[in-house]
Amino acid sequence: MDLRKQFGSLIANDEISLQVEAGEIHGIIGPNGSGKSTFFNTVTGFYDADGGSVYFDGTDITDASPDEIARRGLGRTFQIASPFRDLSVRENLLSVYTAGLRSGLRITEGKRERAQEIIERLEIEHIADHEASDISGGQQQLLELGRILMLDPQCIMLDEPTAGVNPALQNRILDHLRELNEEGQTFVIIEHDMSVISGLTDRVTVFDQGKVVMDGDFETVTSDERVREAYLGA
Ligand code: ADP
Ligand code: MG
Repeated sequence: MDLRKQFGSLIANDEISLQVEAGEIHGIIGPNGSGKSTFFNTVTGFYDADGGSVYFDGTDITDASPDEIARRGLGRTFQIASPFRDLSVRENLLSVYTAGLRSGLRITEGKRERAQEIIERLEIEHIADHEASDISGGQQQLLELGRILMLDPQCIMLDEPTAGVNPALQNRILDHLRELNEEGQTFVIIEHDMSVISGLTDRVTVFDQGKVVMDGDFETVTSDERVREAYLGA
């Protein structure tokens, strides 16, 4: 609520208020530089807010660390996927448990089974044992999604998961998101291309110059004059 983030004199997030309901796919759209990624970073503890507060499932997480927020069940991906390049896809999935560098942490059979389940569900069996450096950008985005799913989060925040991904794989990623959502998974998805999230989201919040300019269902939002202006730069 009223979330604020400044970089020097630049107000990247200016009193952003946004509520996500359990079970929905909530889109965040807006031109480049409008503060979308900053919002994710502030919500998930990667940046300290300069004002306002963040509640997750009734708990104030405004000052919580990224690790703590992830443990509470709020997962996120980054705009630029960065898997461990010399580990295989499967090892990358399992690495979510050891990333905290707590040595001696055992990978149990259950976790291996969970990794296999995710590999099958995301249809990446054919690359499961390839090094992450050898897979495409789109496959890296799927891997990012898989890594988050390993932690069984209540809500997943995705930062442009289909940017730069070829159309075929882009559609597959969107199908996976729809399917997971039908099973009850809550998503918040940043996308600067409106056509990608049409038909995917239940509700859309539009950012422009660090502010929320509108919030509503896709049809309402995209037929709004202010939104069109923000996109056309008029
Ligand atoms: P979007 O994701 O909507 O494209 P961002 O949230 O990445 O926009 O950026 C919003 C504004 O904040 C931009 O002007 C960007 O240059 C600036 N910004 C983002 N991150 C930082 C940072 N770490 N330091 C300084 N300025 C930043
Ligand atoms: Mg961004």
